[in-house]
Amino acid sequence: MGFDTLKTYVLIVGGGPAGLATGIALRQRRLSVVVADLARPPIDKACGEGLMPQTVAELKTLGVALGPSQAIPFRGIRFLGEGRVAEGAFPEAFGLGIRRTTLHRALVERAAEVGVQTLWGTRVKRIDQGEVSLDSGKVLCRWIIGADGQNSLVRKWAGSDSGRPEETRFGFRQHFRVAPWTDFVEVHWGCNCQIVVTPVNPNEVCLVVTSRTPQLRLKEALAQFPEINRRLEGRPAATKDLGAISALRIIRRVCRGPFALVGDASGSVDSLTGEGLGLAFHQASALAQALANGDLTQYEVAHRRINRPPEMMSRLLLAMENRAWLRRRALAALAKEPHLFERLLAVHAGTFSPLTFGFGNFFRLGWSLLANPG
Ligand SMILES: Cc1cc2nc3c(=O)[nH]c(=O)nc-3n(C[C@H](O)[C@H](O)[C@H](O)COP(=O)(O)OP(=O)(O)OC[C@H]3O[C@@H](n4cnc5c(N)ncnc54)[C@H](O)[C@@H]3O)c2cc1C
Repeated sequence: MGFDTLKTYVLIVGGGPAGLATGIALRQRRLSVVVADLARPPIDKACGEGLMPQTVAELKTLGVALGPSQAIPFRGIRFLGEGRVAEGAFPEAFGLGIRRTTLHRALVERAAEVGVQTLWGTRVKRIDQGEVSLDSGKVLCRWIIGADGQNSLVRKWAGSDSGRPEETRFGFRQHFRVAPWTDFVEVHWGCNCQIVVTPVNPNEVCLVVTSRTPQLRLKEALAQFPEINRRLEGRPAATKDLGAISALRIIRRVCRGPFALVGDASGSVDSLTGEGLGLAFHQASALAQALANGDLTQYEVAHRRINRPPEMMSRLLLAMENRAWLRRRALAALAKEPHLFERLLAVHAGTFSPLTFGFGNFFRLGWSLLANPG
């Protein structure tokens, strides 16, 4: 539908999870907002489809409650590899496995409920003297939020550094119609790739393979993992493979003039952390609060604080991914001392501060890594 000129306080470029969450958080603060996305809902994307407990909590703050018909709970993370199994349960709450399209639908519904104006199938093209051109008209606004993903156009407009990715890997996702065999998210470590298995409903699991090889697809990768093959009972994949880039990318400035960045546009972490969506939702609330207070420096500071722990976790997991000896030792250490895994998860889940983890535990983990030859 075409229009001449729309006026709004905030324009959000991108109606993925970050854009919709920011729109909802702004409406919760009674600010007027338009979200434009070139795609139409429900928008799909290659994703592990696991929401960590703190991600579920962020969604609740936005008023998005997911029911049993939409999502399935999991109670922790299990690492399998090098002949070891190590697992940690979350200290308090559950995580949720959910199809990406189901999550997008829930966000779209909540956005409509709180009065976010949405323009689907609408590409945002350029900015000229404060006026933003879309392919269906123009928008006049006070603030422009870039929620337009990893290759953000708004990030270029803002003149922010593109934060060359520290590490780039490739992820491919498919679903299989088998009843989940576990209520944990499983991370299977191979020699050159990992497969993450997430239960997403009572009859379906989501599998993602990540590696440094852009050609590696699930079908070939599965040959390394007979245990998963056995569980899949020879069933063919129920969905086509969908790929995306998994990058650890740190952007130094996420606000400039009338621009602010949120979600993957503002930097990203490796997909193995399972944290991309949680970051986006947490940032969305912080950004909306800063805009309501009329002070974007608050968001700049909050963004740094929110992103730091998952960035650290990305580096740790990427080190394990990259070095066979470290992977062997870490898996052996975590299998031997499950409560250390649980404490690490609690720090990761934000329910336990890194300070409380304490020097004693860091010392024990370090010692275990040295003492377990694998
Ligand atoms: C392999 C893989 C597995 C992952 N697994 C998990 C997981 O299990 N759990 C988790 O929490 N996170 C996971 N993530 C991370 C998560 O998928 C991302 O962090 C999340 O998608 C970021 O959302 P976003 O809204 O910022 O960006 P996106 O989802 O990329 O949305 C950006 C939107 O902007 C729109 N857009 C772009 N340019 C324009 C334009 N010019 N005009 C209009 N619209 C535009 C696009 O159409 C798109 O809809 C995974 C990532 C990968 C790669």
